[in-house]
Amino acid sequence: MRTPLVVGNWKMHGGIAEARVLATAIREGLKRPRGVEVAVCPPYTSLAAVAEVLSGSPIAWGGQNCHWEDKGAFTGEIAPGMLAELGCRYVLLGHSERRHTFRETDEEINRKVVAALRHGMRPVLCVGETDEERRQGLTFTVVEGQLRAGWSGLSPEDLARCVLAYEPVWAIGTGANATPAQAAEVHGYLRGLVSEVASKELAQSTRILYGGSVKPDNAQALTQEPDIDGVLVGGASLQAPGFITIAKKSAARSGASKE
Ligand code: PEP
Repeated sequence: MRTPLVVGNWKMHGGIAEARVLATAIREGLKRPRGVEVAVCPPYTSLAAVAEVLSGSPIAWGGQNCHWEDKGAFTGEIAPGMLAELGCRYVLLGHSERRHTFRETDEEINRKVVAALRHGMRPVLCVGETDEERRQGLTFTVVEGQLRAGWSGLSPEDLARCVLAYEPVWAIGTGANATPAQAAEVHGYLRGLVSEVASKELAQSTRILYGGSVKPDNAQALTQEPDIDGVLVGGASLQAPGFITIAKKSAARSGASKE
């Protein structure tokens, strides 16, 4: 049983005042979301304010990244315990901007996944191929390597708390989303892999989100695919009305979970 999950990644946009306004509008627009779970990942400086606004509402919040150590001389980094202390339920890990702009390795991402779980958060592990890798027919190879490495060494209990996000790099922030068929093909492959890496049961319960230029007008077609269990939204999560529409259109049609 999989309840679709819609996560807004605000990236490095907006200060505290804007975050309060955006979080308040999302809270008011999604007072009783049916058949969908919703979370937002604001910049670190706005997390406390967003937590205050969303506390007691059905909307969760999370971090956009974290370090693998609990403390130490890591100037500019954020520890997983610091996010957990602010009530973060989720943390995005291995986002393509982290992998490509900040050169994060699979090994580092795995350590972050382990650290997030240790602090009671649910890691949203992002995987996805570049345009060039897709052209070379390497899509499955790339996402398989990222998934196996990112989840390396996790116990079945840990795996049960993990979320996956397929985010083709060529679709992020470009306006060119993967078609539902393209996304569904990779999601099906990933679900098969989860079955192999973990178990059939886990493959049935793991949520695999799609991310990459999701907008109000393509969310429904994407999430209607049986293996697409929600969306990770960047740019379109910065406008409350559009994000609310995306959440509503991603809800399981009958209000029930996907099986
Ligand atoms: C993202 O940052 O995870 C993302 C999918 O961005 P966008 O929706 O803007 O493509």
